[in-house]
Amino acid sequence: MKKKIPVFSIEISDLEKKYINECLDTSWIGQGGYVDKFEEEFSNYVNCKHGITTTSGTTALHLALVASGVKKDDEVLVSSSTNMACAFSIAYCNAKPVPIDVRKDNWVIDPTLIEKKINKNTKAIMVVHLFGHTVDMDLVIKIAKKYNLKVIEDCAEAHGVEYKGKKVGSIGDFGCFSFFSNKTITCGEGGMVTTNNDEMASAARSFKNLCYGKKNKFLHEDIGFNYRLPNISAAMGYAQLEQIEDIITQKERIYKRYLNNLKNINGINIPKIEKHNSKFIMWVFNIYLDQNFKISRNELTQKLRDNGIDTRDAFVPINMQKPIQEQFNVSEDSCPNANYIMENGFYLPSGNNILDSDIDFVCDKIIEANK
Ligand SMILES: *Cc1c(COP(=O)(O)O)cnc(C)c1O
Repeated sequence: MKKKIPVFSIEISDLEKKYINECLDTSWIGQGGYVDKFEEEFSNYVNCKHGITTTSGTTALHLALVASGVKKDDEVLVSSSTNMACAFSIAYCNAKPVPIDVRKDNWVIDPTLIEKKINKNTKAIMVVHLFGHTVDMDLVIKIAKKYNLKVIEDCAEAHGVEYKGKKVGSIGDFGCFSFFSNKTITCGEGGMVTTNNDEMASAARSFKNLCYGKKNKFLHEDIGFNYRLPNISAAMGYAQLEQIEDIITQKERIYKRYLNNLKNINGINIPKIEKHNSKFIMWVFNIYLDQNFKISRNELTQKLRDNGIDTRDAFVPINMQKPIQEQFNVSEDSCPNANYIMENGFYLPSGNNILDSDIDFVCDKIIEANK
């Protein structure tokens, strides 16, 4: 039978089963103790005072925006090359996502482009530590202070990653994490907002739970949402968090192996790890091809598919999304680097349990295609 190498896969240990079964055995399937435990342990891990679980990374971003006070006709500056959860969560607030181009050498927001997009409607900056690469937060915070903007860090691909010795998600006003199946740790589906601000934490907590009244429960204080993570999912996340160091060890193994195999190949560009990225943890192994590679990205990924190797193309950036262009008057050529990454970037199989020999097989096929 032909070898198949999936783009991502995980193994679920007995620990997840044990904690989930505990929820089932005790009937604490909706809200319960694992929600509190997961929030407490994860916020400790990120070095934040508060952790508020949500149903997804998308709802975490929306909750952070709502708690930041982002409203109709406000503008939010956001990294162009990202999961569309970023742009959509801004649109849920009836606010305008303003895409900012990324750097070609590491795919994260270019902070030097932020200031000229600020106007009187700008309320927040949403930065994305994409693929585990840190954004230059000192610059972002400096600009945010100058113009009184909130800073939301999308850490969906950066659990445990550090910027100048600080965990991402603890630097801006909010960190937003996803625990979707392919993220560093997972609940299947889930998310968390982290913050050090007591007031914004309690606002986020209220909005995630329908803004129930404090005296009369059913006299609601505002228009809230149900973004509650079930106890069963929190139990899974809690079990995963206990194993995060082992997962990171696997990611380091995978990163090093790909890096060694591909670092000197003409036409392959591996995103640069900045000095300020004091702890880099790969989410998945991403690269882009330049004109020195013998064939195009699409031709290469087809060749890999023919060999049973699954890959994922880079994100189609915010400025290329039709509904965003039409509703928010965003032009398609506003982020040339993000567009370049879209056409030439992709990621390689990076499941936690991928064998070294499979990584070598993938790299051999890439090198073969460049002959
Ligand atoms: C996965 C991801 C999201 C969305 O998270 P979901 O849990 O799928 O809603 C947001 N931003 C980035 C950068 C992501 O990778």
